[in-house]
Amino acid sequence: MEVALKIDVDTHQGLELGVPRLAAMLESEGVAASFYVSMGPDNSGRAILRVFRNRGFLAKMFRTKAVSMYGTRTVLSGTLLPSRPIALSFPEIIRDLKARGFEVGVHGYDHVRWQDHLDDIGEAGVRNELEDAFEAYRAILGEPSRSFAAPGWRTNNEALIALDAMGLDYRSDTRGIAPYQCVVEGQVLATPEIPTTLPTLDEVMGRRDLSDDDAVREFYLGLCKPDALNVHTIHAETEGMGQLESFTALIRALKEREATFVQLREVSRRMNRAELPACEVIRSTLPGRAGWISAQGPARVPPE
Ligand SMILES: [Zn+2]
Repeated sequence: MEVALKIDVDTHQGLELGVPRLAAMLESEGVAASFYVSMGPDNSGRAILRVFRNRGFLAKMFRTKAVSMYGTRTVLSGTLLPSRPIALSFPEIIRDLKARGFEVGVHGYDHVRWQDHLDDIGEAGVRNELEDAFEAYRAILGEPSRSFAAPGWRTNNEALIALDAMGLDYRSDTRGIAPYQCVVEGQVLATPEIPTTLPTLDEVMGRRDLSDDDAVREFYLGLCKPDALNVHTIHAETEGMGQLESFTALIRALKEREATFVQLREVSRRMNRAELPACEVIRSTLPGRAGWISAQGPARVPPE
């Protein structure tokens, strides 16, 4: 069984507190992983705010799980309080990840802008987000990023084409079942896509049939395919903080089942691109997640 851990870092707090804890745990367990960091401002308060667009949102926010899941500062970031930079606030944490052998890639610039407004910002807006994100990465690590993971698993034709022109080793923008080449407007793009294959914890946590940590762990063990690459996206602000203990238990259970942990860059290096299926990128929805996500569509039959 092969598992690639894709760790998305969406917030200032997730990078400051969640990432060091996750890195320490994974290192002591001898587990490889890939981190994708949002390079721009933390406007996550706005993402939480969109759930409460009507009046009285603050009262609702404090009554619901938003504060306990994200913390007060994150909930207000970019709303009542100014947004803080994510990656540029903690360059030493990012350099430390690389020094310890973890993979580090780009998870967009302004996560909330990308996720909520990707289709509104146009080609120029997409390019700005990408340029700012890759520039920040280069400023911190002194080398270009070789990969990109779309915020919120949302992409569109402009983003797919702009990223393809960057000549990355791979991207991980979508949900799907196995690596593929993206087909956009009838053309097969050069950059392979390595999709997330498993549901995220926040999609699963509300389920009535998964009432405790043991049930959630068994659920994930049951979903992992023994003969395929399992790509699991976790979040620094969730599995690296409140859920660290149960995530550690999942890692140990996977090790007991002799899972091999690989980084996505290793997966990309060994892939034979010519053998990958060519698939459209479609829009879909997932149980437990609000709004649309980009997903691997059916494989295109090559013309005779
Ligand atoms: Zn994210």
